[in-house]
Amino acid sequence: MKILIVEDDPLSQQLLLRYLKDQGEMVIAEDGERALAEFRAAHVDSRPFDLICLDIMLPLLDGQAVLRQVRLAEESWGVGGLAGCKVLMLTALRDAGNVMTAFRSQCEGYLSKPISKERLFSEIRSLGLPLIENE
Ligand SMILES: [Mg+2]
Repeated sequence: MKILIVEDDPLSQQLLLRYLKDQGEMVIAEDGERALAEFRAAHVDSRPFDLICLDIMLPLLDGQAVLRQVRLAEESWGVGGLAGCKVLMLTALRDAGNVMTAFRSQCEGYLSKPISKERLFSEIRSLGLPLIENE
């Protein structure tokens, strides 16, 4: 599995890297523009991401805007729906407005911080992605 972790907080980055270390290839983007650049580059290389773990409060471009741009890009590439990348919002923002905005923009899941490995794995499993179990 190829995962894009979009997170500006170093501690949250480290936590996600630790949780996901056995799950395949990981790329980290620390701001929204970098995230889109990585996402587009992966498409150009024909090695798209399977999963994006997407924070909302980010420098340059927030996670909601990144999500919209990801879906617009996929639409323009003719990669949509089930063939698209799974996007899991991982954020401190738990208000209904942010949750609804994200689902309207077609995120697949939404987890509020703090994120435990159990909740993260359970969410990834529910998205139908292959998960390597470790302790
Ligand atoms: Mg943040």
